[in-house]
Amino acid sequence: MIFTDLQLQIRDAARAFAQKEIVPHAAEWDRTCTVPVHVLRAMGPLGLMGMCVAPEWGGAGADMVSYALAVEEIAAGDCGLCNTDAAALTTRAVKKGERWVIEGTKQFITAGRSADLAFIVALTDPQAGKRGMSMFVAPTKSPGYRVAREEAKLGHRAADTCQIALEGLEVPEQDMLGVPGAGYRIALAYLENGRIGVAAQAVGVARAAFEAALRYAREREAFGKPIIDHQAIGFKLAEMATTLEAARQLVLHAASLKDAGEPCLKEASMAKLLASETAERICSDAIQIHGGYGYLNDFPVEKYWRDARVLSIYEGTNEIQRLVIGRALEG
Ligand SMILES: Cc1cc2nc3c(=O)[nH]c(=O)nc-3n(C[C@H](O)[C@H](O)[C@H](O)COP(=O)(O)OP(=O)(O)OC[C@H]3O[C@@H](n4cnc5c(N)ncnc54)[C@H](O)[C@@H]3O)c2cc1C
Repeated sequence: MIFTDLQLQIRDAARAFAQKEIVPHAAEWDRTCTVPVHVLRAMGPLGLMGMCVAPEWGGAGADMVSYALAVEEIAAGDCGLCNTDAAALTTRAVKKGERWVIEGTKQFITAGRSADLAFIVALTDPQAGKRGMSMFVAPTKSPGYRVAREEAKLGHRAADTCQIALEGLEVPEQDMLGVPGAGYRIALAYLENGRIGVAAQAVGVARAAFEAALRYAREREAFGKPIIDHQAIGFKLAEMATTLEAARQLVLHAASLKDAGEPCLKEASMAKLLASETAERICSDAIQIHGGYGYLNDFPVEKYWRDARVLSIYEGTNEIQRLVIGRALEG
């Protein structure tokens, strides 16, 4: 794929930021489960937050290809940092005068503690099924928004994942996004972007693992030569490079369809499925190439594998991606 000058500028700015502000600290954040809020805040003025949001709403107005390129760079620095928005799916919201009162708990909310705002899909009309769901936005400092539990996780330790309890959270009428009943439609519209984003994260973490493995294979000598010169390792690296590029191209293909205003739910699901499973394999192969050191946290590759593992689970599990793709094939 050939990029525009602007897309390359955005990629290079994201890369420079990630290499300077994220890479040197990622192992420490992982070890101490630290969410580097100051780094997330520094990404805002650089246009790395709300990238695709129109400038009149305070975003950078970037296209999805630029977004995918930037996410790859940030995820190559630390995959967990890419998840910075919060979404809570609740049980119900009841209208009281000019306000909605929301109750319910939801597990696994990324940035449930560190985000300033929560997007909440709530059932406002239980009789209307999907059309009875509405979307709200609420500051996480609001009374009635409580972090009930912080989850301990295999990876993504520089991002907090929480169980959120909404206990009589009051949201003014004007903080409903769109009209009553539009929540499901808004959430669905976000699915393509979300899946392209997770797929780009997968490419980023896979690239970091591949680069670490390549470096190590050139340096480490066994039986009188660098291990990259042993065909078993050289072939493994060749396969890693090829599958990484294939995954990247599928992500960029889905992103460019989105930019062209074409339907791309199937392609976004394909990108998410292929990139997440490719990332897990590449990270595992990177551990293998490091031998015993790959299993120690002195080297970054075991973290990459832990960070990659969840990419087959969130934003719709890969079983669900296969269902979406299968349905699209049915016509
Ligand atoms: C670190 C982390 C961060 C997360 N962040 C967020 C967030 O910010 N916001 C948010 O809303 N959610 C978030 N999640 C939740 C995540 O999206 C869900 O865990 C995921 O969608 C799977 O849902 P589940 O856990 O309920 O699994 P289940 O739906 O119980 O699925 C269990 C298993 O059954 C399979 N399965 C279920 N239904 C079918 C079917 N119809 N056909 C075939 N197989 C099926 C699944 O694929 C899976 O293998 C996060 C999760 C994690 C681990």
